[in-house]
Amino acid sequence: MFIYKTYKFRMYPTNEQVAKIMIFFKAKRFIYNNYINEMKKIEVARNKLEYLYSFEKFHEDLIKLKKEYPWLNDVDGCIIRTTLQDVNDAYEKYYHGEASYPKYKSYYQSQTYKTVCIYHNYRKNKSQSIEVNLAKKIIKLPKLNEVKISGYRKLINFEKLILSVTVKKIGKKYYAQVLVKENWKNEVSTKFSNNIVGIDLGVKNIVTTSDGVKYPGLNISRIQNQIKLLQKRLSSSQPGSKNHEKITLKIQRKYQVISNRRLDAINFITNDLVKKYDILVVENLSVKEMLQKSNSSLSDKMQNSSFYEIIKQLERKAYLYGKKVIKIDKFFPSSQLCSKCGYRNKELKNIDIRTWVCPKCNSHNDRDINASINIMKEGKKIMENNC
Ligand SMILES: [Zn+2]
Repeated sequence: MFIYKTYKFRMYPTNEQVAKIMIFFKAKRFIYNNYINEMKKIEVARNKLEYLYSFEKFHEDLIKLKKEYPWLNDVDGCIIRTTLQDVNDAYEKYYHGEASYPKYKSYYQSQTYKTVCIYHNYRKNKSQSIEVNLAKKIIKLPKLNEVKISGYRKLINFEKLILSVTVKKIGKKYYAQVLVKENWKNEVSTKFSNNIVGIDLGVKNIVTTSDGVKYPGLNISRIQNQIKLLQKRLSSSQPGSKNHEKITLKIQRKYQVISNRRLDAINFITNDLVKKYDILVVENLSVKEMLQKSNSSLSDKMQNSSFYEIIKQLERKAYLYGKKVIKIDKFFPSSQLCSKCGYRNKELKNIDIRTWVCPKCNSHNDRDINASINIMKEGKKIMENNC
């Protein structure tokens, strides 16, 4: 196991470094506020349930933004990414009902930035984007190079796994908060673990595992009907009237309830899976493909964003707990193969067939469990080829 720990150093930047730090602060504020502006435009035009996709979209927009504002090219790219992550999280919290609407960042609120440590391992050349050298009393940060530091006189060396650094200006003083993962050498070695699970994502059961455990999907038909009724009332009401506004609010609240329940369920499932298994195998889903289907029905959109969210959370949590997620090719015919003998049954494209008897080996197959076993086996193959 391992723990997270923060080391706080006082920094003594040169005038030149101070000027750069101020630009980084400005970049964070600029990106954050720009994101809110864009979100406000999108919210007017689109269904709120699509908010989960925004992170990818804004990543694409970054390229355009850098052309328009060339000074952004001089900013440590990690700062921009972590800012996008922050504002995206703020929106997720808002839509989950955990926080109020994200607010614009003012000059004084944004006297801080965060940058992530990137490790390069090319042949025998190992390097990392952030380093702390206690003998020289310096911290090496991207685009700033070496900055003088003080603190932790009793520490001899800093051979720790650095995750990120938050630079802060408090009053006239500068600080670097270094987040590290300690004892990380003892973490679960997934490389040789047999504790592997295949995960099938579906409609009736949102998750089915190769151990035969099924997590049922949410039943939202009642609330969906309520929304349909409200939308009918909305279209017959006068735009701009008090009643119109009231119904709009009611609809928003209903969506909020669905969103909360959906995220709660996904949280529960992903926690459960990451705790139980070391290696989790899932089918890869393409975000782009889902976006193209954006004119499909609400339940389709929900389904897609749930799948996307499950994979995202599995990856996030697996990373935190030292576990591993393997994504397999989405064209792998997981539900058509017999998991016992490998026979391929092409009739199974029809999603209504829930169980089937293999014509070759006579085994009775439950569609979802059979698929998840195939996914697990495919993941094992990938593991073995990589070792
Ligand atoms: Zn068979």
